[in-house]
Amino acid sequence: MKKTSGDIDWRHLDASHHLHPFTDNKALRLTGVRVIEKAEGVYLWDGDGNRYLDGFAGLWCVNVGYGRKELIEAAAAQMQQLPYYNLFFKTTTMPAIELAQAICELTPPGLNQVFFTGSGSEANDTVFRMVRRYWDLRGQKKKKVFIARKNAYHGSTVAGASLGGMRYMHEQGDLPIPGIEHIEQPYAFELAGDLSSEAFGRLAAGWLEQKILELGPEHVAAFIGEPIQGAGGVIIPPLNYWSEVEKICRKYDVLICADEVICGFGRLGHWFGCQHFGFTPDFMSIAKGLSSGYLPIGGVVVRDEVAELLVEQGGEFNHGFTYSGHPVCAAVALANLRILREERIVETVRKQSGPYLSRKLAELVDHPLVGEVRNIGLIGAIELVADKHTRKRCGKLGDTGSLCRDMALREGLILRATGDTMLLSPPLIISGAEIDELVAKTRLALDATA
Ligand code: PLP
Repeated sequence: MKKTSGDIDWRHLDASHHLHPFTDNKALRLTGVRVIEKAEGVYLWDGDGNRYLDGFAGLWCVNVGYGRKELIEAAAAQMQQLPYYNLFFKTTTMPAIELAQAICELTPPGLNQVFFTGSGSEANDTVFRMVRRYWDLRGQKKKKVFIARKNAYHGSTVAGASLGGMRYMHEQGDLPIPGIEHIEQPYAFELAGDLSSEAFGRLAAGWLEQKILELGPEHVAAFIGEPIQGAGGVIIPPLNYWSEVEKICRKYDVLICADEVICGFGRLGHWFGCQHFGFTPDFMSIAKGLSSGYLPIGGVVVRDEVAELLVEQGGEFNHGFTYSGHPVCAAVALANLRILREERIVETVRKQSGPYLSRKLAELVDHPLVGEVRNIGLIGAIELVADKHTRKRCGKLGDTGSLCRDMALREGLILRATGDTMLLSPPLIISGAEIDELVAKTRLALDATA
């Protein structure tokens, strides 16, 4: 690897001092780490000079692509004006005010109050506390349980990881914390059998009703879910699933929390995933695409009736973060929203690049390893199987997915694998030619894996 900045051996230094997230650090020290050095548009370059098409937008977040001068300038200007101040103690900052307003111009009607956090995990922890506070104030002290879904990802903090349904996360650290129940995910590829999409949507929403009845509605505080489950395998529910869930939640007085950390800010061709599926949540967790990942910022958008009760009757809410609504992050998020709006990026995803990706992915269906392709907007998945008809997987679950991910990397494409499901989520500014390249390289990776 090229050594830059004098004669620094970056790999050695990394191995000496750096513990990576979600990584077997011992194995990494043996294989050596990939050092990403620079980026532009949808491309990344590593320290060895290799170029990669980033089919994953960093971590589902670089919506406006890399190298946007407007965001860099917004950060620099805000750094000079006011690099930091907090939102506690009866103070605020102009970027935080402007950003809260800008977000509420985009949210569905009735969601007009924003609480800022530094990340998606913090957003979900905030939801957890706000929901419990809400039911306390309503005098329903027994209403404490959250229902979430298997394989959901809601972050890495204790509440976030507990709400999430990743067994391998729960196994480390005695999670979930009490008061969280997980139901089956609406994973049509594995669970729908011969059912029509609509029938499967009703069936999957019915699992929620069953759980509410089993626990007793008087104990159930909220249901939390990603409109499309991301890290759990880009699980796209049937179109009627969320409206059925909404009906059930309203029937039993259960709050609806939409984790929009991935789906928010254009990925599905709408500003928010709930707009694609046509439901109105009580809470929306946001992060990632809010700043296109250029700086860390997240938040919770709260529905008016809920916020009203928390404000009018709640007194002080003993919760917040040093970096809640950090002014530089907020200024960058504002510039990011401006780009998304002015360049009509969300509309382009809905009308052009999303449908184009669907057409191109469909070309992969004939590949012997491909059991299904699916996408909405610019989030998609490819299921790898040994047998297209029985949908039997290839040997040990995860081995083929990991191999395919490595083969893609060799072709200069970054994809992610969850088990044997390949996930993609490129920057929203990806062009038609770049989608062609993404799909062509995916095919080469599939060929090399088969
Ligand atoms: N929620 C969802 C749906 C996510 O995908 C993620 C991160 O991938 C999070 C929450 C956690 O966000 P963060 O990593 O910013 O804490």
